[in-house]
Amino acid sequence: MKIAFIGLGNMGGAMAHNLLKAGQEVYGFDLSEKALQAFQAAGGLVAESPQAAAQHADVVITMLPAAKHVREVYLGENGVLEVLKAGSLCIDSSTIDPKTIQDLAHVAQDKGIQMCDAPVSGGTIGAQAGTLTFMVGADQTTFDRAQPILAYMGKNTVHCGQVGAGQIAKICNNLILGISMAAVAEGMALGAKLGIDAQALAGVVNTSSGRCWSSEICNPWPGISPNAPASRDYHDGFANQLMLKDLGLAVEAAGQVQQPVLLGGLVQQLYQQMCLQGKNQLDFSSVIQQYLPQNN
Ligand code: NAD
Repeated sequence: MKIAFIGLGNMGGAMAHNLLKAGQEVYGFDLSEKALQAFQAAGGLVAESPQAAAQHADVVITMLPAAKHVREVYLGENGVLEVLKAGSLCIDSSTIDPKTIQDLAHVAQDKGIQMCDAPVSGGTIGAQAGTLTFMVGADQTTFDRAQPILAYMGKNTVHCGQVGAGQIAKICNNLILGISMAAVAEGMALGAKLGIDAQALAGVVNTSSGRCWSSEICNPWPGISPNAPASRDYHDGFANQLMLKDLGLAVEAAGQVQQPVLLGGLVQQLYQQMCLQGKNQLDFSSVIQQYLPQNN
């Protein structure tokens, strides 16, 4: 199979590497010279533009920062939809708003090209290990075609519904995650201020009804969850700026359908505040710093 991979950053670079390890012929494009060099060193074939990569391919995978980049790569000046043959398949794994991928899928469909959204969970560690979870929005035929390709890069592929449903699942999950992390941070900080030992408090929460992923696996208090970013100064995790982006997508999507997201709007401001303080790259569990003395 010939695959064009566009967007070879932290996630895409590792995903493309796993396709190469599986013996696929992969043509890659990125705006970053460093990303292209790493891709080439792993055995990838460097293309000069998105179109040049797509011209060789039956399948295009994109892993780009945001919706504007995805639109540009598919429909812009060097857009891949212009050169792809009918019968090709496009998979966008970026985290973007549902409407953008639905609009692009309409354009693709008119050209006889299949398109699906397949955003991921699992972060850079999952991308490197090939253990990502893909949340796919597609009709059944497109899903059946995409699944074996996604299996080279992940261990779970969930069919969420029609095009856009993968993005809906992703932004709703991260809305819940952003809120639950802030809730655990608030509770842990209050407990500490009131004088309970943080380990004792976490021990109670994690065997009681407050237990969740943010309290157990990624507790924001340093030293509670041994492998969590909180235990390494909040480095190498899921960055505040990515959480802020995903909450923005959730709040925007909610606005489009006039659905209240009261807590989502509130925690969006907490992560906004973290970014304003220059903590963009710290793991989002560092939001606990908003509750600790140095911020008073
Ligand atoms: P990244 O910034 O490391 O990589 C994006 C790459 O896209 C960069 O190398 C950039 O040069 C390239 N790019 C931008 N515009 C381009 C264009 N027009 N043509 C070609 N290349 C272009 O970002 P990332 O961490 O790899 O994230 C990619 C996507 O995955 C984002 O939508 C993000 O929200 C999502 N995501 C990231 C994580 C994570 O932990 N990093 C987890 C889940 C989902």
